[in-house]
Amino acid sequence: MTTKTIDRQITGNMMNTQFLWRMCKTLMKPISGAVMIAATMVSTVSAAELNIYSHRQPFLIQPFLDAFTAKTGIETNVVFASKGLAQRLEREGENSPADVVLTVDIARLSVYAQKGLFSKIESATLNNAIPAHLRDSEGYWYGLSVRSRIIGVSKDRVQPGEIQRYEDLADPKWRGRICSRPGSHVYNRSLVASMIAAHGEAKAEAWAQGVVSNFARRPQGNDRAQAKAIYQGVCDVAIMNHYYYGNMLTSDEAEQREWANAINIVFANQGADDRGAHINVSGGGVTRYSKNKDNAIRLLEFLISDEAQQLYGKINYEYPVSPNAPIASELELWGSFKQDQLPINRLSDLAPKAQMIIDRVGW
Ligand code: FE
Repeated sequence: MTTKTIDRQITGNMMNTQFLWRMCKTLMKPISGAVMIAATMVSTVSAAELNIYSHRQPFLIQPFLDAFTAKTGIETNVVFASKGLAQRLEREGENSPADVVLTVDIARLSVYAQKGLFSKIESATLNNAIPAHLRDSEGYWYGLSVRSRIIGVSKDRVQPGEIQRYEDLADPKWRGRICSRPGSHVYNRSLVASMIAAHGEAKAEAWAQGVVSNFARRPQGNDRAQAKAIYQGVCDVAIMNHYYYGNMLTSDEAEQREWANAINIVFANQGADDRGAHINVSGGGVTRYSKNKDNAIRLLEFLISDEAQQLYGKINYEYPVSPNAPIASELELWGSFKQDQLPINRLSDLAPKAQMIIDRVGW
């Protein structure tokens, strides 16, 4: 996406901030005395404002930001893009107006961390609320909500309890009955990485090969399309993120409610001795060149407050990252589940190996 198209999606006062940035940069070039004036202008403009680069869609993030502004008086501006924000931040360097990045999946958080685009921050509030396995040990990024990759099964064609573990997806009994989006999508790559962490590379590959052998059709579509395929009778079992099920169940579109009503969902690997369901996080970090680091940290701290942790459930059926936060009533349909305790950054460490497996088995 070009800068121009992203700029069109800017909300709030971002245009003003960007305009000032451009002006400051121009001023800084010819007259050194103007640098101080420019710097003062910027700090007055940005003192009570935060600029957010978000991979999360505006409808998901705006209610949090409105609540944050109501609580702190700090105004927020959001640049939303599904792709390219890390590259943009990198290009902008020290001149970037961004203070906070919000995104999903550890793989994407790691990209920012590896490119050196996050600041190392220290916050006892964040460290106390977020379990160590769901945040960076050095303080560069923080998980803010939890999502699980679940197994969706046909209500009509799969008995309750018939499939309970990711490992079962490779069982030949499901030949021609499983649907999935392409393996190289980050959600599936992370799932394969979790299988490498649990079983080692060779067994993870044998598992992935087994899953692919069971596909009812070539991997295609997004997660919702897999529920639709079960509804249409194309397959009986599908891999998807849990919050899509909640969103489809309560969708304004009758069609999506039908897809959701055709399936049951299974949180995988819940047995007493089992490792728990594969999870991933949405999360964020403070940008390296933020001019508002204190307020940026305040936003992250707000996002792990009980109020915001519940909002994740209300708005998108996501689970709190903080084990002590109350669960939103919207999640009571499923209640809590046992989560894999694997340090989440292992998923991004293993992602390249996972991708090689995915390529080799043709997922
Ligand atoms: Fe998603």
